[in-house]
Amino acid sequence: MSDILDCAIVGGGPAGLTAGLYTTRGGLENVVMFEKGMPGGQITNSSEIENYPGVTGEITGMDLMNPWLPQSTKFGLVHEMVNVTRITKDGDIFSIHKEDGTSSQAYSVIVGTGSSPRRAGFSGEDEFFGKGVSTCATCDGFFYKNKEVVVIGGGDTALEEALYLAKICSKVYLVHRRDTYRAAPNTIQRAKNTENIEHVLNASPDEVYGDAMGVTGIRVKFTKGETRDIEVPGVFTFVGNDVNNETLIQEDGSFLCEMNELGQVVVDITMKTSVPGLFATGDMRLAAPKQVVSAAGDGAVAALQAISYVDELLN
Ligand code: FAD
Ligand code: NAP
Repeated sequence: MSDILDCAIVGGGPAGLTAGLYTTRGGLENVVMFEKGMPGGQITNSSEIENYPGVTGEITGMDLMNPWLPQSTKFGLVHEMVNVTRITKDGDIFSIHKEDGTSSQAYSVIVGTGSSPRRAGFSGEDEFFGKGVSTCATCDGFFYKNKEVVVIGGGDTALEEALYLAKICSKVYLVHRRDTYRAAPNTIQRAKNTENIEHVLNASPDEVYGDAMGVTGIRVKFTKGETRDIEVPGVFTFVGNDVNNETLIQEDGSFLCEMNELGQVVVDITMKTSVPGLFATGDMRLAAPKQVVSAAGDGAVAALQAISYVDELLN
């Protein structure tokens, strides 16, 4: 087998794992998926998924994603757990530069590094991160069993995670900076119907404070100027995500391929980027619906394109 991979997949979320399944099952023999953590992606932080077609009943993100890697490795996908620092291209060959100082070469690359939770930017957020401030309810919710917590945000993630926390915690204060949420109507209705969720609207986080043991409270500021102190040991922030595009940044600071003003990769409907042989998928590409099902779809589309690209390049 050649030392040069047919396809390198960077990122092992729903997009990368599906690309792994389709490239290997579609005939590429030498495919490695580089993932810095456990495969599965950000959905593994979700306590509940109810919109992945065909999967019904109460299921966590972790449950959903567990079978995806073995399904792909069965067809020959190799998983390497490593942080990719940079992707470069010289002639027809891509190099995948890794944090351990080594690099791998490939004829094609499918990148699906997703996005990461954004910080809300209030005073004390960084100081108390991991000591009462969290971005993961499934990871940290249990620490607040029968206690009160604050959830910040008005999107799908904030409301879904508030619903999850409401089952564990005695009370959830849902703090949102406007008077309308941007989450799905069904989710909003469920949050409104949940007795132990108090909706604190038109309020932004001002300061989280505490002591050596961790958070003891948060001060929120209302749009009209007044403030309110809410005494809680836990504050969960769900205020959106930033695109993980670092692997595409070149030594001179430019990007390997065309990006838009939001830092998302510009692709066509077949996930082709401006660089031949490089495909971008999932949450990191422009106009991404930011769904597991669409990320998986992108991975499949990109894989089929990568198979044709490598075939044409080598034959
Ligand atoms: P990601 O899932 O972000 O995966 C990217 C992977 O790349 C990660 O595993 C990461 O470790 C890896 N990676 C990043 N950088 C590097 C690097 N430099 N080197 C190596 N590996 C790297 N969607 C739904 O459809 N339904 C839901 O109910 C739903 N609920 C959600 C709940 C929460 C709490 C969150 C945060 C998101 C939710 N989403 C939901 C959105 C969904 O999770 C994403 O749209 C989807 O995971 C995107 O998949 P992806 O493969 O593009 O990226
Ligand atoms: P999001 O939709 O971008 O929502 C972020 C929320 O945080 C918004 O309500 C925003 O307020 C608020 N916010 C942003 N910055 C803030 C700050 N500095 N201080 C206080 N509040 C702040 O993010 P998300 O909820 O993580 O969702 C991301 C994507 O994943 C979306 O496309 C979503 O639909 C998808 N997703 C889907 C599901 C599902 O389908 N079940 C579940 C989770 C996520 P404003 O509203 O005022 O802007």
